[in-house]
Amino acid sequence: MKKIKEYGSLSGAVKDLFGESRYVEKRSYVSGGDINEACVLTLDDGSLVFMKSNAVSSLPNFRAEAAGLNEIRRTGAIGVPEVLGAGTDEGISFLLMEYIIGGRRVRSFWETFAAELAAMHSAEVSGTGEYGFFEDNWIGSRRQSNTPHSKWIPFFRDCRLAPQFNAAARYFSTEDVKRIEYLLSHLDRFLAEPERPSLVHGDLWSGNMITGNDGKGWLIDPAVYYGHPEIDIAMTELFGGFPPAFYEAYKETGMLQPGYEDRKELYDLYQLLNHLNMFGSGYLPGVKRIVKKYAG
Ligand code: ADP
Repeated sequence: MKKIKEYGSLSGAVKDLFGESRYVEKRSYVSGGDINEACVLTLDDGSLVFMKSNAVSSLPNFRAEAAGLNEIRRTGAIGVPEVLGAGTDEGISFLLMEYIIGGRRVRSFWETFAAELAAMHSAEVSGTGEYGFFEDNWIGSRRQSNTPHSKWIPFFRDCRLAPQFNAAARYFSTEDVKRIEYLLSHLDRFLAEPERPSLVHGDLWSGNMITGNDGKGWLIDPAVYYGHPEIDIAMTELFGGFPPAFYEAYKETGMLQPGYEDRKELYDLYQLLNHLNMFGSGYLPGVKRIVKKYAG
């Protein structure tokens, strides 16, 4: 695991990373993030650096984000910003990374993105070779457990669905609870064990994919772990969806197992529960519908 450099001040980080005489000349704030403040730093020599910042208490989140970006980068399969360092500075914590300068999309943008995502999904597994990750991380503002498991279905139950259902307990009637318990104890009827764990982005929607100056799709803001690649594909469909060319090209890689359509809403359930727990009851009907679909 690549060590993340940590600093006690932003100016110290800039000097260490770019040279003793370098300093931040300008900050331009960027919109689009859900959780953190984001800006592009322009250094006195014109270099550009991307910085995310938040309260000091968010330093562990930034460390986890950095570990996720590094894990994706380690595969060499797909564009992802290089992590430069993290740290704290006068009441804030920050994460510094390579600034991805946007470019014109290549003609086969979605086909290339699908092929590179599939290559990430099929990259060699690091660490223990189990489902999970070496540390927990965050999905939106909620912590997700990555305790290693030797099998996918128990991991998905114990580290994904069950903690979210528990956190949302107040929304459910006795009838709902019966269905949820049935679902959790019969997941193997609906899901399939993959051949082996795949590195997944973990929060793959259109807002977490940007176009680089190579014209290709780059991944940002991951919540990585070793899991089932279908969970990334299901999430892309959940919030808006990517164009058909993406799905056709991903299917062509052979990474999507037969029966995906029957499983995908169970994977959606995790994200919908997370939204229910973050944003409230607007997501309850979607959660209940899926629970009923599988646990009638
Ligand atoms: P948050 O953690 O608050 O959700 P994001 O990681 O999604 O923040 O970043 C906010 C926005 O900043 C993104 O929508 C994207 O447009 C832009 N962005 C993120 N990372 C980079 C980067 N390395 N280079 C250029 N722009 C970036």
